[in-house]
Amino acid sequence: MPLNKIHSSKQDALNEVEATMLLNACRDLLDNLTIRLPLYTGMRIGEVQHLKTSWLDWEKRIIIIPARQKCSCYECKKWRNKIWTPKTQAGQRSLLITSELELYLKQLVDGINRSRQSLEQRFERIRQRSSLQKVCYPHALRATFATGLSEGGISAPSLCYLLGWESLQTAENYIQSSMKRAHAEFEGLRQHVQVNSSLQSDDSAKINMYNKQDKNDQ
Ligand SMILES: [Zn+2]
Repeated sequence: MPLNKIHSSKQDALNEVEATMLLNACRDLLDNLTIRLPLYTGMRIGEVQHLKTSWLDWEKRIIIIPARQKCSCYECKKWRNKIWTPKTQAGQRSLLITSELELYLKQLVDGINRSRQSLEQRFERIRQRSSLQKVCYPHALRATFATGLSEGGISAPSLCYLLGWESLQTAENYIQSSMKRAHAEFEGLRQHVQVNSSLQSDDSAKINMYNKQDKNDQ
């Protein structure tokens, strides 16, 4: 997926309605995991692709992304000497198994065991069935997860940890853009309130006028 520096996946984060459209278009276990893992944990597609049931700690209810894993998928054979590692060192992290994931992860046998391309194609089929018109690709779900957390007020170090970013700056950028959006919404709301209150004062002026007329009629 061509993602240049000008167009960030942050701009393609989905809102709740759009995310629900994708969820409703899922037909089987793998469809659900393809959407739910990045949406509810922020996992990268390469991490989803390499998830094994051995990563799941049901006692602590966490997914543990390892620092390295033997792998004989096409890409790991060709590019990585049969050893998969997360994209960055910070990619080695643990993520919570939320209620939105539990049912699906419990049904998983061995692991996802699909190529990146196959997951991307699956994602595209789900998107087409969902009738979602907006630009959408797996990484946009990770951006959706990050945006939700930053709008919820998460700290930059926690956001950085959960997303497996090397630099705190990336987390701070997310939080900054959430702050800008919050300020814009607040400003919009304030203008709306001001319009309403000026309408109300017009109304109260009218009421006073009628009251005066009533008194005059008596
Ligand atoms: Zn692999």
